[in-house]
Amino acid sequence: MNAIKCQVCRKNFTMDEVMKAELLEEPIVQMIREKHPEWSSEGFICLADLYLFRARYVAEILKKSSQEIYDLEKEMGKEEQVLSVNINKEFDSRLTLGERLADGLAKFGGSWLFIGSFMAMMVIWMGINSFVLIEKAFDPFPFILLNLALSCLAALQAPVIMMSQNRQEAKDRLRSELDYEINLKAEVEIRKLHERMDHLLMHQWQRLMDIQQLQVHLMEEISQRSIKKQ
Ligand SMILES: [Zn+2]
Repeated sequence: MNAIKCQVCRKNFTMDEVMKAELLEEPIVQMIREKHPEWSSEGFICLADLYLFRARYVAEILKKSSQEIYDLEKEMGKEEQVLSVNINKEFDSRLTLGERLADGLAKFGGSWLFIGSFMAMMVIWMGINSFVLIEKAFDPFPFILLNLALSCLAALQAPVIMMSQNRQEAKDRLRSELDYEINLKAEVEIRKLHERMDHLLMHQWQRLMDIQQLQVHLMEEISQRSIKKQ
């Protein structure tokens, strides 16, 4: 019987103990070529070496897969910077005393309590000057001093309300800016996640197919050998 040389270990074998190089799976051929650059698809490889390379190949695939998942987990854990903040807290901490006072006044000026107490004060003022201090009234009818006080109040109320409105606007602007940033970040994150998933899926799928092919070849070889033995 002709002696056939294995391209890897350089020993001689019989036909039953070797495999044609052209029948090998492509990734395994690449792996063998890395260690044995002189590898030719015309030659043969002994079964012992073939199984060794196959086992090494499967181990490498599994290692790569778990490494990839590990890397992904690490990368995901790295980005923990959170943009979301409580806009009210953030904004209130920037207010000066004057601004806070204006807010408080505007809030009080827009309440039923203010209207009620205002009406009560007017009625008391008019009552005192018309019925109680009839001869010595400090502001007799037609209540000129009261008129002056009311004009002053109206003049002051307008700027206070405007200040408060300005601040409300600034708050809205800040909120929309923050919303925009958060949306942008979410979009970028989702896209990144998507890319990673695609990447992972493609790689895993390719590897599964490679392993599947290897298994089919192994089964074919086993069935051929059992036929020969019979
Ligand atoms: Zn060999």
